Amino acid sequence: FLARGRAVCRHNGLLILSVLSVIVGCLLGFFLRTQRLSPQEISYFQFPGELLMRMLKMLILPLVVSRNMFPANLVEATFKQYRTKTTPVIKSPKGAAEEAPPRGIVIYGVQEDNGSRVQNFALDLTPPPEIVYKSEPGTSDGMNVLGIVIFSATMGIMLGRMGDSGTPLVSFCQCLNESVMKIVAVAGWYFPFGIVFLIAGKILEMDDPKAVGKKLGFYAVTVVCGLVVHGLLILPLLYFLITRKNPIVFIRGVLQALLIALATSSSSATLPITFKCLLENNHIDRRIARFVLPVGATINMDGTALYEAVAAIFIAQVNNYELDFGQIITISITATAASIGAAGIPQAGLVTMVIVLTSVGLPTDDINLIIAVDWALDRFRTMINVLGDALAAGIMAHICRKDFAQDMGTEKLLPCET
Ligand code: ASP
Repeated sequence: FLARGRAVCRHNGLLILSVLSVIVGCLLGFFLRTQRLSPQEISYFQFPGELLMRMLKMLILPLVVSRNMFPANLVEATFKQYRTKTTPVIKSPKGAAEEAPPRGIVIYGVQEDNGSRVQNFALDLTPPPEIVYKSEPGTSDGMNVLGIVIFSATMGIMLGRMGDSGTPLVSFCQCLNESVMKIVAVAGWYFPFGIVFLIAGKILEMDDPKAVGKKLGFYAVTVVCGLVVHGLLILPLLYFLITRKNPIVFIRGVLQALLIALATSSSSATLPITFKCLLENNHIDRRIARFVLPVGATINMDGTALYEAVAAIFIAQVNNYELDFGQIITISITATAASIGAAGIPQAGLVTMVIVLTSVGLPTDDINLIIAVDWALDRFRTMINVLGDALAAGIMAHICRKDFAQDMGTEKLLPCET
């Protein structure tokens, strides 16, 4: 029994440490609240967590670029597969809705109509001169992940057509990708430490939990129950029905990514770890992962959609506003659209909720009512967003398994990979 326990710890050391760090972070946060730290002390305390966020964000750009640009000749093949096997989803990323201010929300772009949303979407797909970041006056910068994917994939297709003369750049991208994955592996040992401070630091900042619980307890419990049903029942069932594989094994493989999502509230910042989990634990074809994950982290947000719908219904009830069946359907559709428009960053869903509220004539100012619990709900919905992306990659890998198995033989290994 002891030998088995030791083997489990050896293989899952980092995962076990990450789970422990979530628990320690919560306990430490609640304990330190009783010590009445000054704002200055709290900001020092939050520093290791900030470092973790920066580390993860630093890795996104080289990872997404290098993964989508190589091996160039297969990018095109990948697109052909997707053209026939997935239904394109059109989203309307609201540039202005990139990052919600933590307190005292300011809503931007309320007047934006559907036409300009489509225009924004098209502009994001053709990113220059803002290949990497997009910003709007009055908002924080946000990384334009979708733009980066499109740009790198286009470069990849062109490199593939260039034949041997493109090999140096392809080789460079492969080595860049390998080195980023090595950084992720080494930095992984810092993650549990960072998670403790990230979670405890947030608990130190939050409003009085008792008062908030009384006001918003039922709402928060409803959102969490919905997320649990979606994450532990609906998504795994879908995965099982399509692939006939055990979803529990798959979910266990991405557990570390889910914990990082819980700690960071950002599906984009979690991307490097989701890649690592899918490749190393679930053995997903890397060509699938490198395309599905960045796109998923930008537009596939099941958790956010669910949360936005529940929040809109809660706001309607607070206002004694009777929703009829048509309005509930409208909320479901606009919540899905709004979630597609939310960026993979903390509390982005809170801002895009304006779309849902305005669609049924609810007051947008009432978003302020739910801000107090949003930092916590954001962590849970981000976990579901990341889980949805990972399972989508798993499903795509299953659907494309035959075509990709054939392609495998043609994938050239470059010196740094051998
Ligand atoms: N924080 C979420 C994510 O990164 C987005 C949101 O719902 O606010 O996936």
